Amino acid sequence: MSDRSKIREILIRNQDTWVCSSVFLREHFIKDYAQRISEIRTEKVNGFSIDIQGKTCDIHNHKQHMYKLSIIAPNYERTTLF
Ligand SMILES: [Zn+2]
Repeated sequence: MSDRSKIREILIRNQDTWVCSSVFLREHFIKDYAQRISEIRTEKVNGFSIDIQGKTCDIHNHKQHMYKLSIIAPNYERTTLF
């Protein structure tokens, strides 16, 4: 599995939850996670667009980033929910 697929899978598994980049770095030894994430940002999940937010990690005492993937459902799908 490529580094990009690994990161993508981790972010999708933790959908709408912040994932610290130390997971990619320390558990999977992916140093260029930021580049891979910018590639994943342009992809789709099951045909849906995705949004990946980033911010400075606020759960550890370090200056790394954390990322959160959200799947953007099309409008018609949202309106049928209510
Ligand atoms: Zn962290």
